[in-house]
Amino acid sequence: MNNIRNFCIIAHIDHGKSTLADRLLEYTNTVAGKEMQAQVLDNMDLERERGITIKSHAIQMGYKLNGEEYVFNLIDTPGHVDFSYEVSRSIAACEGALLIVDATQGIQAQTISNLYMALEHDLEIIPIMNKMDMDNAMPEEVEDQIVELIGCKPEEIIRASGKTGMGVDEILEAIVNRIPAPKGDPEAPLQCLIFDSVFNSFRGIIAYFKIVNGTINKGDLVKFVNTEKEYSAEEIGILKLDMSPTKSLSAGNVGYIISGIKTSKEVKVGDTITHVKRPCPKSIEGFQEVKPMVFAGVYPIETEDFEDLRSSIEKLQLNDASLTFEAESSVALGFGFRCGFLGMLHMEIIQERLDREFDMNVITTVPNVSYKVYTNKGGLIEVHNPSGLPDIMAIDRIEEPYIRASIITRTDYIGQIMTLCLGKRGELVKQNYISGNRMELIYDLPLGEIVFDFYDRLKSISKGYASFDYHMNGFRPSKLIKLDILLNGESVDALSCLIHVDNAVSLGKRMCEKLKELIPRQQFDIAVQAAIGAKIISRETIKAVRKDVTAKCYGGDISRKRKLLEKQKKGKKRMKQIGNVEVPQKAFLEVLKLD
Ligand code: GDP
Ligand code: MG
Repeated sequence: MNNIRNFCIIAHIDHGKSTLADRLLEYTNTVAGKEMQAQVLDNMDLERERGITIKSHAIQMGYKLNGEEYVFNLIDTPGHVDFSYEVSRSIAACEGALLIVDATQGIQAQTISNLYMALEHDLEIIPIMNKMDMDNAMPEEVEDQIVELIGCKPEEIIRASGKTGMGVDEILEAIVNRIPAPKGDPEAPLQCLIFDSVFNSFRGIIAYFKIVNGTINKGDLVKFVNTEKEYSAEEIGILKLDMSPTKSLSAGNVGYIISGIKTSKEVKVGDTITHVKRPCPKSIEGFQEVKPMVFAGVYPIETEDFEDLRSSIEKLQLNDASLTFEAESSVALGFGFRCGFLGMLHMEIIQERLDREFDMNVITTVPNVSYKVYTNKGGLIEVHNPSGLPDIMAIDRIEEPYIRASIITRTDYIGQIMTLCLGKRGELVKQNYISGNRMELIYDLPLGEIVFDFYDRLKSISKGYASFDYHMNGFRPSKLIKLDILLNGESVDALSCLIHVDNAVSLGKRMCEKLKELIPRQQFDIAVQAAIGAKIISRETIKAVRKDVTAKCYGGDISRKRKLLEKQKKGKKRMKQIGNVEVPQKAFLEVLKLD
């Protein structure tokens, strides 16, 4: 156990975590030359295409220093704010962290938030200044920032490049010399912390764990403490690029277990695995449950796919414990689920994964945050869906979630960013100078105002030179009202939203205009209206198409006509019939992306 090192790599997005992980795998000969491809650990197609890490990945490496053999368990983590939950779980399985800072960018918002998470778990931090090969690297300035942030000595910062391999040997030695070996007693009763799980269509459910105490052997009878279920450890092993079975694993190690677990409900990330015969006295302090903050309806395009959608979401949830769901129904869309997400990127990723991994074509409705509604009778209702809002007369007040945001940017962009935050009902809490021309702005903002396009707009205003991070900061009373959208007189519940009273009229107008762009013209005029209660506040008309596409086939070749209809049918993928109007999927999502 003295020769084990468990560590993670934390950094702001794009600062080079995955690339550096590649180098570590290469320098330790973990991945053979022909298997080596850029960002090997990002093994989900979606990750490779987008060039981002969504899931944390664990991998074991062997390393030799001064004749001693060491075992390294590396857990790569995602950097985007929506996935910080993954980071917190990885951190709990480690004793050390490589903190990477891009030498051309300096410290960014998630550098700070991830560092704090690592410090909370008492991890040993190895600061690394990456991308030193680039001409625009600013080593002196960034070194000062790092020293100030973590209070280390300048010579403790390793100068590196994931591209050229500079500093990689020094990093490997620092992992041995600076990160403590895991503690724990291999002879004690078994105590394993589950930090992740995946569904594999051949093997069933695979749980990843770190052994805090004790030893687990293949074939052992084990118990998952919180769910109180018992299993036989059919296969245990370590995580190389693939799974590599072993007979036995003891304290300090990171591994996987396959035990015939059938349903996702049986595995809880944060749960403890112990022996049935000699259980540990108490379970490991689990993870803080994350609370999803953005909610949206997810509906099958074809009504009969409802049960398939349920089982797909259940499987996805296994791999992503932050996803929540409950069945709901909508007048416009039929039966579906209200899912809870950590943020907008998370929601997009889930929709993509449903499509790719489960072949589920879904409609996702306009997202909203969760509201606390206090009724006149003193009751409290948590509303995750605007259509679930009680009658206005019964409401005493509505409270909405607030976040405390940290925005780090160059001083040139401060003015425009403040204007953006003000437009989103933000309140400036504090400004901190970081160095020379960089500042941190601390804002309190309603979460509902930032879920749609805040991040995109921040990026475009600052030309990419602003980073953003936030944490939840309680609920506050707000003057919110429900805005409804009607298509040809029929209210579309899936398009309803709650909005601050001052912004309702302008939002209603812009939503009508946007829907006019998003809904294709049909055989008849379509009235698009926005209403508050019974009052129509805005109206647009989508004019009918003049000619019937099939008209010219009448009397003509029947097979040509069929082909044409089939072509139309294909085009209808991701379209939903609402009353007599065909609404494309993107209308539900993009309707709130307003300029
Ligand atoms: P992550 O989001 O932290 O995992 O970052 P990635 O490893 O995906 O890297 C982000 C981008 O920076 C990619 O285009 C990499 O090729 C590039 N990159 C990473 N490390 C270096 C480096 O040391 N030097 C240079 N020039 N580019 C790098
Ligand atoms: Mg990455």
